[in-house]
Formats: sequence, C-alpha cells, structure tokens
Amino acid sequence: DSLGHAAGDSLLREVALRLAGEVPPQGLLARLGGDEFAVLLPGVLGEKGAMELGRRIGDALAQPWVFGDHIIDVHASMGVGFAPVDGQNGDALLQACDMALYAAKAAGRDTLHFFSRELELQARQRLGMLSDIRRGLEQGHFDVYYQPQIALDGETLVGFEALVRWHHPERGMISPADFIPAAEESGLIVPLGAWVLERACWDAASWPVGLRVAVNVAAAQIDRSDVLAIVKTVLERTGLSSARLEIELTESSLMGENQEVRALLNALRRRGVRVALDDFGTGYSSMSYLRSFPLDKLKIDRSFVCALDDDARGEAVAIVDAIVRLAKALQLETTAEGVETIKQANCLERIGCTYAQGYRYAKPMDADATQAFITAWRGFIAPAPVGVAAMDFEADSDNLYGSRRQGTRSRFAAL
Ligand code: C2E
Ligand code: MG
Ligand code: MG
Repeated sequence: DSLGHAAGDSLLREVALRLAGEVPPQGLLARLGGDEFAVLLPGVLGEKGAMELGRRIGDALAQPWVFGDHIIDVHASMGVGFAPVDGQNGDALLQACDMALYAAKAAGRDTLHFFSRELELQARQRLGMLSDIRRGLEQGHFDVYYQPQIALDGETLVGFEALVRWHHPERGMISPADFIPAAEESGLIVPLGAWVLERACWDAASWPVGLRVAVNVAAAQIDRSDVLAIVKTVLERTGLSSARLEIELTESSLMGENQEVRALLNALRRRGVRVALDDFGTGYSSMSYLRSFPLDKLKIDRSFVCALDDDARGEAVAIVDAIVRLAKALQLETTAEGVETIKQANCLERIGCTYAQGYRYAKPMDADATQAFITAWRGFIAPAPVGVAAMDFEADSDNLYGSRRQGTRSRFAAL
C-alpha cells in the first residue's frame, strides 16, 4: 500500500505466478480477493502432504521481491481444511480454512495451521463476545474508571486516565485486555470508544478546572471513524475545555508515515487537545515517529518502571533516563506508567520524569471514588492553566499541516 496501487497489483501478479509454480496440475488456484489466495486439491493429501505443499509455497514466496529501488519480503500465513471432515461443501470448507488462517495469523508470520473443532468453538466465542459488546453498549454494562496522574516534582494531582470497564451480566468484570482487541478488529471500538470519550468528558467537566482527562484512542478508531469530528462534538456537548483533554495513542496508530494521522494530530493539537504516546518503548519505538508526529507526551511503559526496583546493574535506570532525556530534548513531557513503589517514584523524580501513574497513588476507580479522591487531594491539585476558560475548540481555521509543535505558552498567548 505504501508503494501505491500499481506496486500492489504487480506484487499480486508475482505471488500468483510463484503459487502457480507450486500447485500440482490437477489443483485449482484462485485469488479470493485482497491479498488472499486459495488452493483446492482433489484426492487424498493428508496432513503431511499439506505441510509439504505449505513448505514449498513458503519457500517460493521467501525469495525477496524487487520493485524499483525497493526490496520487499513476502510472507504468507496458511490455513488448511479437509473435505469432508471439516466441511462438506465449498462454503463450509472455505469457512473452515478461514478459521485456520485466522489462527495461523495469530500465531505469527509464516505459519500454517489446520482447522479444528476447537478453532470453531473459539470463533463462535469471538462472535458471541461481539454481540455481547453490542448488547453491553445498549444496556449500559460498560463503565469508565479513572486512575490519577501525579506531577512528580511537587506531588500534585494533574488529572486522570480514563479506562473502560465491562461488567458482564454473566461473566462478571472482563478486563479491557480481553475485549479491546476483539472490539478493534470488528470495528466495535468505534461506538465503544466514542462512548468512553463522551462519558470521560462529562465526568471531567465536573472536576476542578486544573485537572485533565486522558482517553485512549485505538488505531482502528482512527482508521474507521472521524476522530476529530467526534472529539469536537463531544467537547461541545459536554462543555469540557479542549485544553483539559488528552488523547493517548499507541505506536500502531503511527505506523507507516501516515499523512492522515499526522494531519489529525496537528488538528487536535492546534485546538488545544494534547496527544500522548502510550506504552512507549514496547513496540518498534522508531525514533522517526518522534520527529515526524506532533506529540506532547511519552508514556514510559510499565515494564521499564517495574524493572527499576531490582536493578543492580543500573540497566533499567539507564533506559528510563535515556527516554526522559530524549523526551526533554524534543520538548515532550513524560509519564511513568505502573508506578507501584516509593523506590520507583523517587528514582523517577531523580531522573526528571514529569508525571507518574500507578497503584502507588491509586488503582483505577469509578466516578464516585474519583470525586472522593479529588476531595482528599484538595490543596494538592494543579492550578488551572491560564486562559483555559477562553479556549475555544473552533478558535482557528484548518491548516491541516500546521506547525509541528506549538508550545502551551504560545498557544495561550495567541488567544
Ligand atoms: P494502558 O492505556 O497502558 O493503561 C494502563 C493499564 O495499566 C491499565 O490497565 C491500568 O489499570 C494498569 N495499571 C495502572 N497502574 C498500574 C500499576 O501500578 N501496576 C499494574 N500492574 N498495572 C497498572 P487496564 O485498565 O486493564 O487497561 C489495559 C489496556 O486496555 C490499557 O492500557 C489500554 O491500552 C486499553 N484500554 C483501556 N481502556 C480503553 C479505552 O477506553 N479505549 C481503548 N482504545 N483502549 C483502552
Ligand atoms: Mg493508556
Ligand atoms: Mg499504557
């Protein structure tokens, strides 16, 4: 996709040729659509035969493909089903292969997976989960919890991260780690994410004006919905000042030099909404993202913070220190995630990390408990940023590729 349509077509032709070279004459090779191909073989092949063919196909594709100046590695995931045991007609057999393919993709690159009844059960559960999410949204089974974020230099409360919770009527509390991936894949993250955003902004509007709310936005929301329009509507409806909203993205949203994502981030930031990069250090952490995407903050992943406790060789300190220095040099703030101990907090403060979030301060809690937490922190709450009341979401016109980083000060001075 990044090399354009013509490259994609040319690659598909090349793959078809290579596959054709491996499929025996009595077999049928077809392109099902997109980047999916199917091979149908008559006769008794058996698992061994299928594995052997899979290996040959894998080898045929392994040879890098050259397109202009680009050398491209091609990988395939393969799903295998047998008639009549796995499916007695074309549709059923293709469906079985599809489930096997899904499992192969989940297992990583270049894998071959056979269909099994267990896969079918899992697929049914996935579908069940999706209809449960839909029902949960309609019937109010979702809730938003809040986890405080603390400024390390003065230990003041600066805001909260909004974290979705699902109280399933039969299965009890389900962790976001268990349903967010399915919601992303199915697109249900769009209505769910919009609901979380609106709920979080309503709640935040009732907090003291110095406090912000950070809301997670998944890559699929950016791909499949107009995040800017949704944010704008929600801010108007809830009356929350845009300067009090922060959007947390993961690196998966920034993959592949995406102009639209860059434009979105610019537009959000020009309106005063802040942008944080979540779980920094766990993905590809390509330094080029930091240069090419407009951000306000890096959230240092919990795994590095956790390692600070038992760090005889000073490796964890060195990594966190390097991330904080890098962030400072790029005028980005930092939040350490998953701070559980005083030792970690002290170490992070020494290093110069801006904010901390974690069980040391509080676990995520419901809206009522959040109000009580705010009351308890009275006197230790960040003051309202100057000019917040005057921030207007529609203050400026759209220059989609605006300046990379507008400092808070210049933004307010401009008002
Ligand atoms: P995240 O955005 O990195 O959120 C931080 C996670 O770390 C939360 O898990 C939080 O409860 C947990 N955590 C915070 N402090 C500590 C600590 O001191 N120790 C330990 N062990 N864990 C800590 P949670 O709420 O289960 O959320 C998991 C992930 O699900 C989130 O990771 C986020 O990626 C995703 N998620 C949650 N809510 C939403 C949402 O509304 N939209 C989207 N797109 N994703 C969400
Ligand atoms: Mg987050
Ligand atoms: Mg995180």
